Amino acid sequence: MRRVDFHSSLKRVLSRRVSSPSHLPPAALTDVVVVLEPGLSRHRAEAVVDRLRAYGFDLHRTDGGGNGAVQTVLSAVAPQPDFDLRHILILDGVRDAFQVTSPYTFASRSWRAEDTVVDVDGVPVGGPEVVVGAGPCAVESEGQIEESAAAVAAAGARLLRGGAFKPRTSPYSFQGLGEDGLRLLRAAADRHGLKVVTEVMRPKQIEPVARYAHVLQIGSRNMQNFPLLQEVGRTGMPVLLKRGMSATVVEWITSAVHVLAEGNPDVNLCERGIRTFETATRNTLDLSAVPVVKARSHLPVFVDPSHGLGLRDFVPPMARAAVAAGADGLLVEAHPDPPHALSDGPQSLYLSDFAAMMEAVRRVAEAVGRTVAEPEATAFDAPHLAAP
Ligand code: PEP
Ligand code: MN
Repeated sequence: MRRVDFHSSLKRVLSRRVSSPSHLPPAALTDVVVVLEPGLSRHRAEAVVDRLRAYGFDLHRTDGGGNGAVQTVLSAVAPQPDFDLRHILILDGVRDAFQVTSPYTFASRSWRAEDTVVDVDGVPVGGPEVVVGAGPCAVESEGQIEESAAAVAAAGARLLRGGAFKPRTSPYSFQGLGEDGLRLLRAAADRHGLKVVTEVMRPKQIEPVARYAHVLQIGSRNMQNFPLLQEVGRTGMPVLLKRGMSATVVEWITSAVHVLAEGNPDVNLCERGIRTFETATRNTLDLSAVPVVKARSHLPVFVDPSHGLGLRDFVPPMARAAVAAGADGLLVEAHPDPPHALSDGPQSLYLSDFAAMMEAVRRVAEAVGRTVAEPEATAFDAPHLAAP
């Protein structure tokens, strides 16, 4: 797998004040189908064709129909990949226009048929193993993150999560420990053989976060923060791109292209629940997005049932369902003392419940032809491994 030398790439990021579109690889041509009003006179149909040719379209015309009614369909190749279809829809005599090629070329299956496997410092994501990332919503103290890391690693997690820069709805809520939190997070992860996934909220935070993290998380609220996406793209580090809470699947995959277009192939998508009319859960976890995205895109897909449901009792069943639906990874909040957590306690699993969830997830993974890392043998269930 191609890797960008991080430090030289970061230097380039920091020295670059204005981005130019010249670094973008060429996008595929956009195919469009235009359906004209049935029975449109020859003269008016010609006028539509002339307008499209004037825009630079290369087009093919098909006249068909029966019972005397003529139906004209134009198949056309757009002069540029981001041609705005509304220019066609508003033409007199046009009934409908459809874009056939996807707007997210580099992230699409038609661009790359094989699954992308993201190498998170030796942990492959998107291969046969379902990779689990777990830990508290926020890093709160050395003891809290150490206890979390020890327990989630023992249960088979491969990534340690924990926010040091937190996007909180209220400015009065705990905002995270900042760089101190990053240091504690990385130290705990290293002690237990875990890789760090943590959020970066703005370009200025990339440098400190990249020093401690293995995966840069882009939060739901930043899915369409394009300058941030471009800058994390330029680091060449693995990225976890959460779905915006009001974003369509197409908008979400298209956002990934902002990272890919910077020459960074290592994007993981993460479904974390969307806003719907339903109020029984914090969000509506859109598990239907998992097979849909897997069909349309080659990128690995994580599911975060903690933010998706918002209440811990509902997290294990939806984690199991996510794996059954084909998720490549899970991102789960787990905390040593959820009632006293500084953020998202009600949706955080107790560490013992996380271990139980992992057992069940492992069985589901096996049923669908995947694996989950085995739990570490503990001194309790493997006395011969206990220290003398
Ligand atoms: C998080 O992972 O703690 C988080 C803030 O998630 P989201 O961006 O999905 O709300
Ligand atoms: Mn959270």
